[in-house]
Amino acid sequence: MFMPQFQKKTIADLETATQISKRINLFKFARLNESTQARIMRGCVKKDRFENINEVAHHLVFKHDNEGVALNFYGCGVCGGYHVTSANKTRRKQIKEMIINLKNNIIE
Ligand SMILES: [Zn+2]
Repeated sequence: MFMPQFQKKTIADLETATQISKRINLFKFARLNESTQARIMRGCVKKDRFENINEVAHHLVFKHDNEGVALNFYGCGVCGGYHVTSANKTRRKQIKEMIINLKNNIIE
């Protein structure tokens, strides 16, 4: 019987394996090289997942209003959802403008 060879660094326990399996087929993941697995762990598995852009927008506004941060976001090629990440200075400015526009549109 074929069993996937897991990288010990990334799939150390059942809990991690379960987290991974919620985002990507575990057998497909197991066949990827170590650096690709690490990238998927960082960019997808370890992050909160947002189902659609509407959820992302609500989260960005919440973080902005409650913690004063402007986060960046991206569509994920692994799970098909969205994740948020820190933004550089230029992107922070764009995100803040986007949040202001979003809030104005909600109020109107
Ligand atoms: Zn993802």
